[in-house]
Amino acid sequence: MPQKPPRPGFESWGRYPKLDANVVPLNWACDFPLKPPPATRMLPVGAGRSYGDVCLLGHGTLLRTRGPGLSGGMDRLLDFDPATGILCCEAGATLGEILDFAVPRGFFLPVVPGTKYVTVGGAIANDIHGKNHHVAGTFGRHVPLFELVRSDGRQLICSAAQNADWYAATMGGMGLTGLIAWAEIKLKPIVSRRIQYMGVKFSGIEEFVALSERNAKSEYTVSWIDCVSTGNNFARGIFMAGEHDSAARPLKRSKETKLSLPIDFPGFMLNRHTVGLFNTLYYNKQLGKIKSGSVDYEPFFFPLDRLRHWNRMYGKQGLLQFQCVLPWEEDHRGMTEILKAITRSGLASFLAVLKVFGDLPSPGMMSFPKPGITLALDFPIRKETSFDLLERLAAITLEHKGRMYPAKDATMTAAQYQAFYPQWKKFAAFVDPAFDSAFWQRVTA
Ligand SMILES: Cc1cc2nc3c(=O)[nH]c(=O)nc-3n(C[C@H](O)[C@H](O)[C@H](O)COP(=O)(O)OP(=O)(O)OC[C@H]3O[C@@H](n4cnc5c(N)ncnc54)[C@H](O)[C@@H]3O)c2cc1C
Repeated sequence: MPQKPPRPGFESWGRYPKLDANVVPLNWACDFPLKPPPATRMLPVGAGRSYGDVCLLGHGTLLRTRGPGLSGGMDRLLDFDPATGILCCEAGATLGEILDFAVPRGFFLPVVPGTKYVTVGGAIANDIHGKNHHVAGTFGRHVPLFELVRSDGRQLICSAAQNADWYAATMGGMGLTGLIAWAEIKLKPIVSRRIQYMGVKFSGIEEFVALSERNAKSEYTVSWIDCVSTGNNFARGIFMAGEHDSAARPLKRSKETKLSLPIDFPGFMLNRHTVGLFNTLYYNKQLGKIKSGSVDYEPFFFPLDRLRHWNRMYGKQGLLQFQCVLPWEEDHRGMTEILKAITRSGLASFLAVLKVFGDLPSPGMMSFPKPGITLALDFPIRKETSFDLLERLAAITLEHKGRMYPAKDATMTAAQYQAFYPQWKKFAAFVDPAFDSAFWQRVTA
């Protein structure tokens, strides 16, 4: 009888690749370095919300800062000063937990991604960005200090002034420089849970860029784009802008989400026709060209969090994400080429997001964002087409002087990565000799 491959103890959000590893829970910062040290290489991990293999290490030891189902682990909030807005917490605390604490006290996180189920360690290690990148830059810009623990037990307090090179290498350093034990984050004041929202329908990249420029002062901007339709509907989308409501309202904590996708859908369910139908319904949900109103921050920032385990929609084989940024000087030709390659492939993605990155510098040596337009979307895994398409998209990105986001990647080649991030050799000097990841093995091969 052929042996079944071992079930991986830890999956990334894309559920691809599936790599088996020994998972060691860390409940306290002092649990690391492990005693005795493992025989394999190690990698710290958070909530596994990265899509590809940046949080995986086949046959290695994963240092898990959060328990399964996001329970327990290094999840403590340690200190908060309302006068400065500085919160100190362990690296395994999630952004959702911080919001539950901060919002009732009139504070909000300076940068949030499209899900609140990511840990502070993960947010720093990928130097994540949000809908306010054009005015606030990356998450790391709001982290004045953190502690890094190396595998030899050395503890480094890192800031822009102290161990500044370790600070820059760890921010966006994909967990390779050591374990982030705790961090300080500067929160910002709010007076309401609500977001004043405006949605504008657009057609084509030129109109998207014009809308982004016209709304450059809006705190949050992001667009949904239809990557299935062709002809007159090619590159149609909805541009969304939002601001924190300035009228004071009661600041309650969010209710727990109970809805969960209990099973893996059969892989064939997401196809060009079902996604095309979803896109048409979504686009026409907004009847007029412009719609405005006020919404709670949860559906505005985290619409996908309403359905836990939504990645099961892509079936057991998982999904591939692609996110690139193309610089302004490329005149949008590259983005149109990318969108055409996607529509031509017939591979469907209904979760496609377009956004402008501003020019605030990222603090990390390896941070992904740079000024330009970023596109993020996911594809079901179809052996015959998905990998070829991803290869083509990476090639277009390179040709147009852009780069891809490691947190969302499972396929870029070593040559592509090294061209996207030519500083990788300088960064390699900071990698902990006992640490490694499947991503790093792939892109430095
Ligand atoms: C629905 C969804 C929407 C998303 N939207 C966005 C978005 O808008 N913007 C964006 O930038 N990203 C986005 N992401 C990606 C996500 O924010 C990042 O991948 C984030 O890093 C995941 O954090 P995590 O806690 O799950 O970490 P993991 O995925 O477990 O790990 C991520 C990296 O952090 C390292 N790491 C984790 N903990 C530590 C630690 N304590 N010390 C050192 N290194 C550590 C790991 O080694 C790994 O390299 C999204 C993901 C999902 C699923």
